[in-house]
Amino acid sequence: MGMTDMTDAIAEKGVGQQIYQMMAELYPICRSITGNGLRQTMQIIQRHVPIEIHEVPTGTRVFDWTVPKEWNIRDAYIKDADGKKIIDFQESNLHVLNYSIPIRTHVSLGDLKKHLFTLADRPEWIPYRTSYYREDWGFCLRHTQFLAMEEGPYEVVIDSTLEDGFLTYGEICLEGENEEEILISTHACHPSLANDNLSGVCLATMLAKQLATVRHRFSYRFLFLPGTIGAITWLYMNERTLGKIKNGLVLTGVGDSGNITYKKSRRGDAEIDRAARHVLGHSGRPGQILEFSPYGYDERQYCSPGFNLPVGRLSRTPFGEYPEYHTSADNLEFVRSDYLEDSYLAISGILDVLENSRTYLNQNPKCEPQLGKRGLYSSIGVNELAMLWVLNLCDGGHSLLDIAERSGMNFKVIAQAAEALIKSRLIIELTG
Ligand code: ZN
Repeated sequence: MGMTDMTDAIAEKGVGQQIYQMMAELYPICRSITGNGLRQTMQIIQRHVPIEIHEVPTGTRVFDWTVPKEWNIRDAYIKDADGKKIIDFQESNLHVLNYSIPIRTHVSLGDLKKHLFTLADRPEWIPYRTSYYREDWGFCLRHTQFLAMEEGPYEVVIDSTLEDGFLTYGEICLEGENEEEILISTHACHPSLANDNLSGVCLATMLAKQLATVRHRFSYRFLFLPGTIGAITWLYMNERTLGKIKNGLVLTGVGDSGNITYKKSRRGDAEIDRAARHVLGHSGRPGQILEFSPYGYDERQYCSPGFNLPVGRLSRTPFGEYPEYHTSADNLEFVRSDYLEDSYLAISGILDVLENSRTYLNQNPKCEPQLGKRGLYSSIGVNELAMLWVLNLCDGGHSLLDIAERSGMNFKVIAQAAEALIKSRLIIELTG
């Protein structure tokens, strides 16, 4: 069986632009961990890839958690004493504390202050705040807006509902030649924020769309989930089949100008950890590898000790290390299609290693085989030293990734050498 160059196969030209366009379409929607904004987002993903939309009822127990009530919002505003709207949900959905209970009241500035959130050091940005698991209401606003507020009284309206309903998530499995799976998971619960995490949602969508058009060895399972509770719910419902997951990636924050960051799985030496380190190390672009820590995105759940799945995280600048994080400044100007494309290419490079890192056996292990008589010297595009490494280490105990690591050579060069040796029948794949 020949090798598929995944990078060539799925790196469609202009993919960064396609990711960006999808982000622009999803950006205005008010999403949360449940509700119609999340549902509508899943329906838009469905236009590109036929994901299955799952609905899990409020009150469902999932390990130590419970699926919460479903939240929906139509409108919200604050009007001043003159009846002028000074804060308007229609202008930015970040203005409402996400998961605010409904309220309709008149309050003084003194009483309202307890429910207002601003960023004094970034006075023009609106913060993004949530209150999922404690019933509360509030508004997020620019600090400059806050400073301009007078004594009131203010009319405060949040036209929301918090009722029994469902938690929505999207899932698709693209069947490969075997049942072993590569998991790609991304959180989809944030309202109008671009890098965190529409970039991950839309990159994953385009990756699934392209993978669906090529032959692949592994099966690929894509998850579009509300953060934390979505991953916990999915793990709870799929506990019996988690053994199929051989590698996985959490995708988030893949559209900013920073360098690519890979965070290792809890195992630290999983194949995905090694493939990511190899690809970033040989890419010629700066990048960084972080050790696992039990803080971050949904890798926290996948890498909890009861599962310890081989799932790492790929992003650019880590969350919290850029000031725009969780503010209105994480908008469509903050991300760029060329950064999205660069992230996409890095990911397809990692998948290329996973797909093609097979184990072969040298058929002529006693002394070196004579390469010249097989036309293998000076064959175009094949590195002779790489052939010698492949022949030497194809003893049945080394994969091509092992050989790339041990030789210090690029996986692609090693894979090309292996392909030439397969054609000459000097190595054969070990299966089973
Ligand atoms: Zn976030």
